[in-house]
Amino acid sequence: MHHPGNLFVVAAPSGSGKSTLVNALLEVDSGVEPSISHTTRAPRGQEKDGREYFFIDNEAFDAKIAAGDFLEWALVHGNRYGTSRQAIEARIAAGGDVVLEIDWQGALQIQKLFPDAILVFVLPPSWEELRSRLTRRGEDTPDVIELRLTNAREELAQAQHFDYVIINEVFERALFDLKTIVHAQRLRYIAQKSARADTFQALGIA
Ligand code: ADP
Ligand code: 5GP
Repeated sequence: MHHPGNLFVVAAPSGSGKSTLVNALLEVDSGVEPSISHTTRAPRGQEKDGREYFFIDNEAFDAKIAAGDFLEWALVHGNRYGTSRQAIEARIAAGGDVVLEIDWQGALQIQKLFPDAILVFVLPPSWEELRSRLTRRGEDTPDVIELRLTNAREELAQAQHFDYVIINEVFERALFDLKTIVHAQRLRYIAQKSARADTFQALGIA
């Protein structure tokens, strides 16, 4: 089914800079809205409930699965994460854009549900830099960092299933790349025809 709005799905191995990139996009582009996932992981650093995630326990997560509240959910690095159905469908049906920052398993589930979704994979420039970013972020224990690096090997192999790849080396360049992907979707014929209906009509191509 075609929706007038765009559903962008951004995935990457932990530490690649996906959240930093998506947050920077959200700051400069008020037309894109994030979806806040639910997770069973504990908050880290300065994270606040309802801002980065809704932090819930395993029992509450099970209840949400049973109620059909998730479009998709997955087990990632030992914790469960799920995307709420609520708001996403309504927003893209109304012509708004939504960005999901989820893992590759979730991204492929979303692609099945929304074949028009635009899948973007963010790569780190190297293994050394990935390790160093995870360490510099300073929010995970050494054990968790090792687990995330081990899982990254499997995750990187999934990039081939995505529509676009951004290599997050120089941050400003990577942000430009992400903005370009978003902008290009808005220039598609079908999007322009609806956003600029008056112009199309005046030109007689409505
Ligand atoms: P992810 O969401 O992919 O797990 P984060 O956005 O938390 O990753 O980024 C991991 C760390 O790398 C953060 O400390 C962030 O500030 C830093 N970072 C992000 N992009 C770059 C970049 N292009 N160059 C250097 N450091 C970066
Ligand atoms: P973190 O614990 O670093 O915030 O996230 C770990 C991983 O879980 C990241 O790859 C992140 O994108 C992913 N993730 C966050 N929310 C969701 C979600 O709702 N569904 C899925 N499948 N993955 C998610």
